[in-house]
Amino acid sequence: METNLNTCDIKECAREKTCPIYTGVLRYLQPYVEAYKQTYCDAGPDGYEKCKRLEIVKVHGFCPENVLPDDDRTVEEIMSDPESFGKF
Ligand code: SF4
Repeated sequence: METNLNTCDIKECAREKTCPIYTGVLRYLQPYVEAYKQTYCDAGPDGYEKCKRLEIVKVHGFCPENVLPDDDRTVEEIMSDPESFGKF
């Protein structure tokens, strides 16, 4: 099933079912996961459109697991950093 990344009129990010924020890859950061959800994933377009993970997906078609929604680096800086591709 293709995900529509340009859907801007829904409350939740279209990536929620596969995003590491939801699938548990970030489970060691569990205290922060709920805050990320409230700030980005479940906050409507004003929230998820600010998510760095979603921004990277729009450019590259995927986002490395080791990237958080509030990463303030550029997409290029993140994608050229080997640590972005590490595992939590
Ligand atoms: S972390 Fe970003 S890409 Fe993942 S579900 Fe939340 S808003 Fe979408």
